[in-house]
Amino acid sequence: MPWRYEHEAERKLMESLEEHTVLCPYCGEAIDVLIDIQEVGDEYIEDCQVCCKPIIFNVATDSAGNLTVTVRDENESQ
Ligand SMILES: [Zn+2]
Repeated sequence: MPWRYEHEAERKLMESLEEHTVLCPYCGEAIDVLIDIQEVGDEYIEDCQVCCKPIIFNVATDSAGNLTVTVRDENESQ
């Protein structure tokens, strides 16, 4: 199915977002998430699209400057 942006404003917003695929720490499903590159260094919670449990996302950059996303479940100790 072709994907089209409906609004110019939405496209501008999308440009600061990077799509990443992560594995849910609960159900193991691969889910696609949009990471805002301005959230580097932040940690936030988003519900799994499959099992609806809260996944903790940690956004960082590696030494090469690439965006990395790690996930863990809310009961896991740091
Ligand atoms: Zn899940």
